[in-house]
Parts: sequence; C-alpha cells; structure tokens
Amino acid sequence: MLYRVEGIVIRSMDYGEGNKIITLCTKSHGKVGVLVRGAKKVRSRHAAATQLFTYGEYVFFRGMGHIGTLNSCEILEGHHTLREQLHLAAYASYAAELVDRALQDEEAGGAMFDQLHAYLEALEAGKDAQVTTHLLEMKLWQRTGVGPQLYACVSCGREDELAGVGWRLGGALCRACLMREHDQYKAGPAMLTLLRQFEKTDLRRLGNVTLKPETKLRLRAFMRGYMDTHVGVRLKSQQFLDQMEKYDLANLDE
Ligand SMILES: [Zn+2]
Repeated sequence: MLYRVEGIVIRSMDYGEGNKIITLCTKSHGKVGVLVRGAKKVRSRHAAATQLFTYGEYVFFRGMGHIGTLNSCEILEGHHTLREQLHLAAYASYAAELVDRALQDEEAGGAMFDQLHAYLEALEAGKDAQVTTHLLEMKLWQRTGVGPQLYACVSCGREDELAGVGWRLGGALCRACLMREHDQYKAGPAMLTLLRQFEKTDLRRLGNVTLKPETKLRLRAFMRGYMDTHVGVRLKSQQFLDQMEKYDLANLDE
C-alpha cells in the first residue's frame, strides 16, 4: 500500500550498505519508520530527505507488517539552520529524541506533530531556545499524562491557598505543605503561575518569551528535577545540552 504523509525526521540511522532508516513524526500516522535505499550515496536524491529535522511530504510503500520503503519526498522545509548552528542543533536534537520517546508507533492524531513543527519554527525564528524547549517538554508531559498537578495541592489535595510548587512532590503546594518542603525542592507562587501559563500555551501561538535569567535558572531546576523524579527518562542528547547550557551561563556571568 502506498502512503503519503507529512512528517518531520526525528531519527535517522545508517542501515546496511548505503541505506538509512528514518523515523518520522507525522501529522496523520504518529511515528513511522521508513527505509531509504541508497540514501548515503553521494548523489542520492533522497539524502536531504533523511536529514534530522527535515519537514517534508513522504511517499512510501509498505506491505503488511513491514517497514515502509521511500518512493519520493518533497521537502517542505529543510531546517538547515537547526543543523548548522551548534546551539540550536543541541536543543533540536534533544527535542527530537524526546518526541521519539514519547510517541507510540502509528498513534492517531497530529497534536505532537503540530507542536514539534511549531517548536522547530520558533527555534529558527530565534525565540528563547531554553524556554521554548521547556514548553515542548510540558506539552509532551501533558499529552502522555505525566505532567505536574497545578490546581490542587499534591500533598494534601486542597485547592485553595496554593502558594507555590514542589518538583519532588510533583506540583502545586498549599501554604502549609510548602512550608514543610525543603527549600531545595520548591519554588514560590510566581513559578506556579508560570507553569500554568506553560500548560495553556500552544506552541503554534507562541509570542516572544522573555524571562529574567534567574527565573530561567529556577525554571530549569524545576523542569529537570520534575523530569528526573516523575518522568524518568534519560536522554543521550540531554547530557550535551546540560553541558552547553552550563557553558552559556558561564558566558553570561562574565
Ligand atoms: Zn497541602
């Protein structure tokens, strides 16, 4: 059967002699694997179609129970900038790996595709890469049902007197519970408000985000702490990103 899907390359790996297998995050078929024959040959017309972050219309043939084989691809956006600039490449690679982990094969619905596409556009447009990446993380958590609880105290359940958030406990905390939590694991009401905004923000309608450096630091501490404690995925690309962010911050301090 012949398929025609819009998709973004979120993984690309060598396979056999001169071939590649790409993983697409698609608008209509969730995550799809496609074999691209001869993609590694110098003059392959499909080489560009297998590059990470490429957005295109992919036409592939697939028999029952087999992986698809690429027939043709029309590239809609190459997203070169995202591969060429180290800083952006680090964020985009992390995002691609995150989406790859979160998506099931052949899942219906294009929600994740829309968010990833908007995310890559935002990176290219020069929006704050760290903040935009945290937004995407939040979208993925919400979608997979592992997001923080932000409208009731995670510790005692009350819905009033919410005074902050704790990442170790997994969300909003009322005044009394916030007092009992160790400083290291909590943040005040401003962080709660920010996280609620994140939850409501659609990346396709993202304006310009400007957060103070200290807010960004606290936000990152929350997101990383939450991810390690409640989501529990360790990504290869995250280590590199962490190192790079450390270096960025060192530069800011000069
Ligand atoms: Zn409480």
